[in-house]
Amino acid sequence: MDFNLSQEQQLIQSEARRISREVLRDKAARWDLNAEVPWENIELLAKMGYMGTVIDEEYGGVGSNLMNLVLILEELAWGCVSSTLYVFANNAHGNRIQQLGTPDQKRKYLPAIANGSIIPCHAMSEPGAGSDATRIRSTAVLDGDHYVVNGTKCWISRGSVSKLFLVNVRFGTDKGADKGLLLIESGTQGFEIGKVERLMGQRGSPSTELIFNDCRVPVENRMLEGDFSSSIMSMSFSRCCNAAMGIGAAQRAFDEATAYMLQREAFGKHLSDFQGLRWMLADMKVKLDAARLLIYRAASNATGGMPSDGEAAIAKTFANEASLQVISDAMQIFGANGYSCEYPLERLYRDARAFAIAGGTTQIQRNLIARKILGRRTY
Ligand SMILES: Cc1cc2nc3c(=O)[nH]c(=O)nc-3n(C[C@H](O)[C@H](O)[C@H](O)COP(=O)(O)OP(=O)(O)OC[C@H]3O[C@@H](n4cnc5c(N)ncnc54)[C@H](O)[C@@H]3O)c2cc1C
Repeated sequence: MDFNLSQEQQLIQSEARRISREVLRDKAARWDLNAEVPWENIELLAKMGYMGTVIDEEYGGVGSNLMNLVLILEELAWGCVSSTLYVFANNAHGNRIQQLGTPDQKRKYLPAIANGSIIPCHAMSEPGAGSDATRIRSTAVLDGDHYVVNGTKCWISRGSVSKLFLVNVRFGTDKGADKGLLLIESGTQGFEIGKVERLMGQRGSPSTELIFNDCRVPVENRMLEGDFSSSIMSMSFSRCCNAAMGIGAAQRAFDEATAYMLQREAFGKHLSDFQGLRWMLADMKVKLDAARLLIYRAASNATGGMPSDGEAAIAKTFANEASLQVISDAMQIFGANGYSCEYPLERLYRDARAFAIAGGTTQIQRNLIARKILGRRTY
């Protein structure tokens, strides 16, 4: 067992770190303030090949793996979480198509996802079905060589800028109907974007409603033959990415707090001389390192493009909570400045807060972990 990054991984990490510090950091506050989509960053990140990190070379991607993607997302999120979410989306949803799509679907969509000309999104949540995804009500009913889709999705990240939607539906109206994924392109008749949410954080990545009203989708756009569990399984990939982005934001807060402690004075000393704050910083470091090890374990153990759902759930639970504690402690070290919008900490907190909800809440991850230990509940 080797806990060190390989030379190749260190190179990947340092290049993403350079972009994050030289480009992403400067304008992060602007996208947040105006809830603006960071198009110039999306274009740059696409040009650098990040959108297709895990997409196979035959489809124009880099053909790399989840571990390298995790390193990239962590570094980019240090500079700007909103911009990083687009790299996450193209890789996570591109990976879903790569793992679960038909050969035609892969040929049709993966090259455009890899080069960033399509931003895909995944639409599972509905007004009546969040954590309990089995309760989704959106239906796709077969009519000749099309499915007719009806229903409403909510909270769909990047809905207003996406061109391709991986939509979880029931294939029929009866209770026991199979559930699975359907690929729906923007502009399809009967499909429109509804309300755009006003978000607390991640404001450069708009969350929207999707409304399907007798929307006709060709049968060849069905991704899974009634296999709901594999679409849920594919969440474990996203969960590692989600955890890594939160830790990237927390590392930024940690770095800011370290620099602040070395220059800010109180009672004739630097903050770095107060034992209570030194221990606080030490505890922050312990949490960051522990979270990283769990994320790297899940990511580097991933086989066939999918990490183990148990390892991903453990990494997400710990990292989501650790990142919020670290950022909150950094705010405390900054005193009133930590609460000011002049400094990045409050934005980092708002951005990181979403990670503990999106992609399956930390409670749902604990349910999954407990099920691995104890089995299913018997009543
Ligand atoms: C910024 C953001 C982006 C998002 N992006 C997307 C997206 O792109 N696509 C998408 O499909 N969805 C997206 N979501 C929705 C997200 O997946 C859901 O919010 C999440 O799954 C929780 O569902 P809910 O909000 O309906 O909460 P609920 O399911 O109503 O849960 C409410 C509370 O009860 C807890 N709870 C529920 N069931 C249990 C249980 N069995 N045991 C213990 N506790 C439980 C939950 O943990 C939570 O604390 C996004 C959400 C946010 C905030």
